[in-house]
Amino acid sequence: MSDEDESMPESNGLGLDYILKLDDVPSKLPPHLELFKTHVLCNSDAPIHTETIQYSGVYASLGVDNSLRLDSFCENFKVEVKRLTENDMEFDMIGIDPSIANAFRRILISEIPTMAIERVYMANNTSVVQDEVLSHRLGLVPIHADPRLFEYPDNAGDEKNEKNTIVFKLHVRCPVGQPRITVKSDELKWLPNGSEFPCEDVKPNAGSKPKTFTSFTCSQDSLPEFSSNPLCPTYPDIILAKLGPGQEIELEAHAVKGIGKTHAKWSPVATAWYRMLPEVILSEDVEDELAEELKNKCPVNVFDIEDIGRGRRRAKVARPRDCTLCRECIRGGKEWEERVSLRLTIEATGALPPEVLFTEAVKVLEDKCERVITELS
Ligand code: SF4
Repeated sequence: MSDEDESMPESNGLGLDYILKLDDVPSKLPPHLELFKTHVLCNSDAPIHTETIQYSGVYASLGVDNSLRLDSFCENFKVEVKRLTENDMEFDMIGIDPSIANAFRRILISEIPTMAIERVYMANNTSVVQDEVLSHRLGLVPIHADPRLFEYPDNAGDEKNEKNTIVFKLHVRCPVGQPRITVKSDELKWLPNGSEFPCEDVKPNAGSKPKTFTSFTCSQDSLPEFSSNPLCPTYPDIILAKLGPGQEIELEAHAVKGIGKTHAKWSPVATAWYRMLPEVILSEDVEDELAEELKNKCPVNVFDIEDIGRGRRRAKVARPRDCTLCRECIRGGKEWEERVSLRLTIEATGALPPEVLFTEAVKVLEDKCERVITELS
């Protein structure tokens, strides 16, 4: 072996790193290709360069490696929270492909579990709302319960216990001679000891308690996680039905753990969406009447006008994040397309309930990746 051969790294996966660090290996694309790779451009009729370039050898003739490398992903990936309130969160994910942002969106909508009413045992319903419609409405009432504290129901068996079922009771009656009443979700009362309705087909032994629709071994309110945090609907004012004089509803509603893929009632988010971050660039100075015209073209007020002295004014991009890409500012002739450039950077924004949901979505994606790796190995 020659001296030169001995100075080469072993073929143990580090060889690629060695080659990429050599001075004569280009690491960046020419600016126009870099722009097409990292941005979607918006013309007045349609966006262009919308495809993600994933093939690792696509720039091989230029000597640039396009393969996805874990170390550069870890170096560049960032999550920046822009807005966080009790019910929604907006954040930027920087350094990922839109397909991964979309994976998080889909997981949030359909694979993060929640608790929702699945079975309704109707004892009496003389309201104008049919049993099945009322049951459907009850299913859509969000339940304030942490699903991580519960197990999935056992589909194979009938065992409904304190670990997989939450029981609510609803019993409302509108007395004769009284005005109509509105039944709201706050009428759903938690039964920590489980169902109180006896199973009609099971006769109790003498002296024993009648069998009900659940088999709780202890009261849920004796468990530390629920004793200080009683289970109830998230919102108390969701209208379920209206009762006229003499009408009555009596039922038991059993909530179980599930995911939005099975039924939308288990979806934890009202909506989760992403978009690529818009960039609005003025390619030339837009001044005076044109500045005023540009400002008036934009329906969401992206542009401001600044005073540049001697009575002259110039348009500036003040709120690019608000841009909805309606493309109004580049309509009205070729000259407007030349003055304003609309681009989307390959980033993502989502609006969703609190940060814990996103953390759960990351765990779900992690599990999926592990499953694929196990199956491949
Ligand atoms: S594309 Fe529409 S929203 Fe965006 S800057 Fe132009 S006019 Fe405003």
